[in-house]
Amino acid sequence: MALPSDHAPLAERVEELLAAGGPLPIVSAGDPVLRRGTEPFEGQLEPALLARFVEALRATMHAAPGVGVAAPQVGVELRIAVIEDPAPVPDEVRVVRGRVPQPFRVLVNPAYEPVGEGRAAFFEGCLSVPGWQAVVARHASVRLTGQDEHGRAVDEVFTGWPARIVQHETDHLDGLLYLDRAELRSLSSNEAMAERWAQPTPDEASAALGFELP
Ligand code: ZN
Repeated sequence: MALPSDHAPLAERVEELLAAGGPLPIVSAGDPVLRRGTEPFEGQLEPALLARFVEALRATMHAAPGVGVAAPQVGVELRIAVIEDPAPVPDEVRVVRGRVPQPFRVLVNPAYEPVGEGRAAFFEGCLSVPGWQAVVARHASVRLTGQDEHGRAVDEVFTGWPARIVQHETDHLDGLLYLDRAELRSLSSNEAMAERWAQPTPDEASAALGFELP
């Protein structure tokens, strides 16, 4: 008897996903795969398959569009994520949020720890929670350790918006969604964001919606 596909070995599951071609379907909040956490990557995918999977994650991120995608968001319970942010924002936003361009990176077995005491609170969203954004206070700077897609060790400090992206994507690999860390009173639809909360900081939203900023 055939096993259901979501119980197939990871490599088979990834082959199935890639067989469809194009961007991968993104699972939405409510799917347990987003809550189960992930296995460390230890060669479960052969190098050629890993390369194809990473390329598919990248295409999925571009198509969404988003600035990061974690493997569980396409239903794969492996500790792998991709990030990339061209940061197409006005200068005043770039300066206040530290949203500098982040080149494409593959995070394999990432973990982070805070660097210093600084916190930064801004609206963020998630491809698995479409249509909504909320303010999350995160470490302003983090040290990221892990590997890249070639198995080389990574040990690097991220600050500003790239630090936010790294924390968001690494959290996915631990079964966490940004809403777990968010100020829930800040929860805003994309429409409300566009109409009301496009300012560089969430200060006005904090006053109007009644939530704390660090
Ligand atoms: Zn997300």
